[in-house]
Amino acid sequence: MNVLEIIAKKRDKKELSKEEIDFFVKGYTCGEITDYQAAALIMAIYLNGMTDEETTNLTLSMAYSGEVLDLSKFGENVVDKHSTGGIGDKITLILMPIISALGVPVAKMSGRGLGFTGGTIDKLESIPGYNTQISVNEFMENVEKIGISLMGQTMNLAPADKKIYALRDSISCVENIPLIASSIMSKKIAAGANKIVLEVTVGNGAFMKNIEDAKKLSETMINIGKLAGKETVCILTNMNEPLGYSIGNTLEVIEAVEALQGDMEEDVKQVVLELGSYMIKLAGLGDDIEANKQKMLDCIDSGIAYIKFLELIETQGGDVSFINDVSKFENAKYIQPVLTQKTGYIKSIKAEKLGKISCELGAGRLKKEDVIDNQVGLIINKKIGDAVEENDVLGIVHANDESKLKIAVEELKDCFEICEEYVKKPSVIYGVISGTT
Ligand code: URA
Repeated sequence: MNVLEIIAKKRDKKELSKEEIDFFVKGYTCGEITDYQAAALIMAIYLNGMTDEETTNLTLSMAYSGEVLDLSKFGENVVDKHSTGGIGDKITLILMPIISALGVPVAKMSGRGLGFTGGTIDKLESIPGYNTQISVNEFMENVEKIGISLMGQTMNLAPADKKIYALRDSISCVENIPLIASSIMSKKIAAGANKIVLEVTVGNGAFMKNIEDAKKLSETMINIGKLAGKETVCILTNMNEPLGYSIGNTLEVIEAVEALQGDMEEDVKQVVLELGSYMIKLAGLGDDIEANKQKMLDCIDSGIAYIKFLELIETQGGDVSFINDVSKFENAKYIQPVLTQKTGYIKSIKAEKLGKISCELGAGRLKKEDVIDNQVGLIINKKIGDAVEENDVLGIVHANDESKLKIAVEELKDCFEICEEYVKKPSVIYGVISGTT
């Protein structure tokens, strides 16, 4: 077998065997197959697709390219969560302490932001002292001790996906259903949970731009889950506007803290409750979705979820005084509001563009090796369906560089479409797809 034959086969729209996929994944991970050969194969997959069997084989091959965690000591039903990515998505920070406080063991490895979407690990690292790079032993000990740990993926967790994902990002091959499904499910399989809840984002700020593609992606991941013995539920959510009001690392941590203290934006609340109620169900702690949502709300109201968040931060070395008093976080040098030019209703928002503006300010990485600026980002004051009057604040730019500030201010104005007719607020949750329905 050689890689040229494999590339030619996919170029000619033929199906790859399990052995050929394994050969490629192993060869690329250990460096025997070059970046340009891998790029050719990935582009051929992007253009010609993969059958369900090929997608499953690619997933399993990437999942077993490194260590596979065994979380069975935390019980029969360990539930993991993943989002296909979005703008202002701070859901993990809010959701995980709540469900942990309700008795669901949380052993979660999260990723960094790449491209226009943010990553939980970058957000956590904006809390002074918080260590995302603990050892797997410490990770397991923390889950045993306090019921929760959030760390960065170890170098050895699905290393093939790490390499292939970075390559896809650099050759414009991210938005592809078999490649996204295998990337996400390989990490989830390697991370050891046996039940998985996935947030599949849909809209202009997501990789899936329409519901049909989001459903296809969901069905593909659910099928992979079935074959791997992992019950999987997908929740389709609206990503035609950012989630909540903040984009950027420290800004999002502050929003998450406020949410856990009971002051939660409506769209964030709906996503947190929907995902959490299914996680509680899969964990075997309650079949009634509405009752689970109420338990979560009670857990926030009683302050128990917030205390669990403090416990998590403290256990991983973070300075909780910043959480108890978020005014301790240093502000960016320039903070400038952007005003509306006319009266009316917000008709649409360019969510992906907002993600890119935030990234250009320094909140995300344009290249893998870029260093993140935690302070910068955007505050979004108006969402779709909101009424606005001339000179209302649409958003606020937080910048540390004057020229970047100017560009961001101009670009932000262009992200909001305002019309005269009344606009209904859009749905937040589009639907739930599970293997058993
Ligand atoms: N998130 C992932 O982990 N992988 C993808 O391919 C896309 C989103």
